[in-house]
This record gives sequence, structure tokens and C-alpha cells, in this order.
Amino acid sequence: MSALRPSPRSGILEIQAYVPGKSAVPGGRKIYKLSSNETPLGPSPLAIEAYRGLADALEIYPDGSATRLREAIATRYGLDPARIVCGNGSDDILHLLAAAYVGPGDEVVFTEHGFLVYRIATLAAGGRPIVVAETNYTADVDAILAHVTPRTKIVFLANPNNPTGTYLPFDEVKRLHAGLPSDVILVLDGAYAEYVRRNDYAEGLELVATSENVVMTRTFSKIHGLANLRIGWCYAPADICDVLNRTRGPFNLNGAAIEAGIAALADTAHLEKSVAHNSKWIAWLEHELTALGLSVTPSVGNFILIHFPSVAGKSAAEADAFLIANGIVVRDVKSYGLPNSLRMTVGSEEANRLVVETLRAFLSKSAAHA
Ligand SMILES: *Cc1c(COP(=O)(O)O)cnc(C)c1O
Repeated sequence: MSALRPSPRSGILEIQAYVPGKSAVPGGRKIYKLSSNETPLGPSPLAIEAYRGLADALEIYPDGSATRLREAIATRYGLDPARIVCGNGSDDILHLLAAAYVGPGDEVVFTEHGFLVYRIATLAAGGRPIVVAETNYTADVDAILAHVTPRTKIVFLANPNNPTGTYLPFDEVKRLHAGLPSDVILVLDGAYAEYVRRNDYAEGLELVATSENVVMTRTFSKIHGLANLRIGWCYAPADICDVLNRTRGPFNLNGAAIEAGIAALADTAHLEKSVAHNSKWIAWLEHELTALGLSVTPSVGNFILIHFPSVAGKSAAEADAFLIANGIVVRDVKSYGLPNSLRMTVGSEEANRLVVETLRAFLSKSAAHA
């Protein structure tokens, strides 16, 4: 037997495999899953119907270019369909960008509490993650620019960011872009863009349209409620679309995803209902959780970062265990460098009220112990 074994490229074994939000609690009882930023309203009924419509054609390959979905997206946002590339979730696009533009020794910049996939995609491509400190749980443009070097290939920015829920006003995004060399790609990840209700926010279409080095990524997993089907897309300069189209899987979207995505986009009433539900309940949650004495980071997404005191009896880990024992699953964000915080997704009215009541019980229980 040879002593040699296959070994991966350097960097691969530094990757901590992505751990998704938990979905089960012991005992098999009813649970409220608020751990993966999934919408409590579910997808549009039209999307479900379109998905079912594919059941009779499973032996047929899908349209590898997802042409009708790209056209539907283009119509909805006023874009050129040739500059849209779809992915098996937007994670697919993030990985494709890193794989095509980052090589061994190249640097990829993202922020301290940035989305974990940026690190994974960077290491998988052989690149070096350059992690930049945030200010007040928010990306800091000057700090990011200070970390750009001649080896930088990509800057990843989720706007709004997950798991913090904070965002950069569009003026700041433009200032970031203006400070980058023109051969560095700025990826604006707009996974939560539809939820944002701020006059100074923009998802970045204008920057993509007017530059050669900005890519905006989007997903159908969050507000459209189609996480299970894996549909993402990007709007990018023609040269970058060409690269992604050469390297992506030839059938990276399945036919059911294509049809459901088209139907979801058409149901603007469902989208508006989802935004209204979120805006109402995120404000309520911020108010109620603050009234309990917890601090929360103001969020423009569909989730909220809750900070716990790092004292025994009241810690985030103990709150997490108490919530789980009561059928509520939120996201532990230790892997995001936030050991004293938990992220909860805005849920149904029933779930939101239950979280607040359960945390009230948790805090008064630990107060009694103290
Ligand atoms: C959820 C999320 C995504 C999208 O994931 P999909 O692969 O499209 O399901 C991308 N970026 C951020 C910041 C997210 O939170």
C-alpha cells in the first residue's frame, strides 16, 4: 500500500463546513424555526402551482440558460437579460465568482461579521480571506479600503448584512466603489434587498450598469420563500457574465425552480404582503426585546440580532437552550464572531409573541437565580 493519499489544495482544510441553522428540537413537538431567515408567509401560491406543473416532465433537461426566468427578472427590474446569470442559489454565484477570479495567494476582502459563504468560497478557490473590522456591527468603508492591496481580487459586501441586519447607505457604497482599483470586483450581495425601507438605500443596479467591476447578487430564498428550490441570480458586466457562463454548471437551475421563480416574480401582491408583515413585526420585536432589557442591533432585514449579557444565567448560549426547550429554534452566531448574540428571523405573529414571552420567562428565571 502506498503511503501517498490524495490531498486537496492548500486552504481547503481550513474551511469549516457551513453549519445551517438548526431545524429540529428534541421530542418531535411543534417547533418554530427562526434560524435561517425563511419567510413565515411561504412562497406565492402561484409558485407552488408552477412547481407542481413540472411533475410530468422530469425526464427532460431544463433550459440551461434559464432564458424565461432571466427575461422575467429583466422585465421586473428593467435590465438587459444578457447581463443576468442565474445560479443554484446565490451561493452558487458567490462560489463561481471566487473560483474564476481568485487564485492561490490572491486576497478577498470582507468584514468581521460578514456572511460565512465569503470565507468558504475564498478558501475553496485557494485565496486568502482578509477580514476587516466593523464599526458598530456595520461595514466600515475606510477600513475596507485600507485593506485593499495589489493582491485583492474581490470585495464581498452583503447589503444589508447577515447576521447583523445593518446596511450601508448607497452614498457609502459608491464611495467604496470609487476607492477600489478598477480590476477589483465589488460584489454587492442583496439577499435581503426587498425588505429594506430606507430612502438612502439602493441595491446597486446603478453601479453595475455604470461600471465594469460591480456585481449584484440576489436570491429567491428569502422574500420569495423558495429556499428549497435554490434560485439565485446576478446582474453583472458583460465580461463577467461571459466568465460565469463558461464556468457554471450547464444546467445549474432545475426546471421546477425556473417555473416557480417566474411565477413568484409575477405575484407582486404576495411580495408586498411579505414586506408589510416584516416591517410591522420587526419594529414590534425591537421594541419588545428592548423593553425586556436586551439590546438589539437595528435591522433592515427580516431578522434581528439580539445581544445577551455575558453573565452566567443570562448568556446567549443559555437563552438558546431555553428557547430550544420551548420549541423555538434561533441562530447561534458564534461562528460569526458573535458569541454573546443570537439571531432570530421575523416569524409569524404567533412565533414572534412566543419568542418575547419565552425570553421574558428566561430573564426572570435567571434573575431569580442571581
Ligand atoms: C441567505 C443568504 C444568501 C442566499 O443564499 P441562497 O444560496 O440564494 O439561498 C446570500 N447572501 C446572504 C447574505 C444570505 O443571508
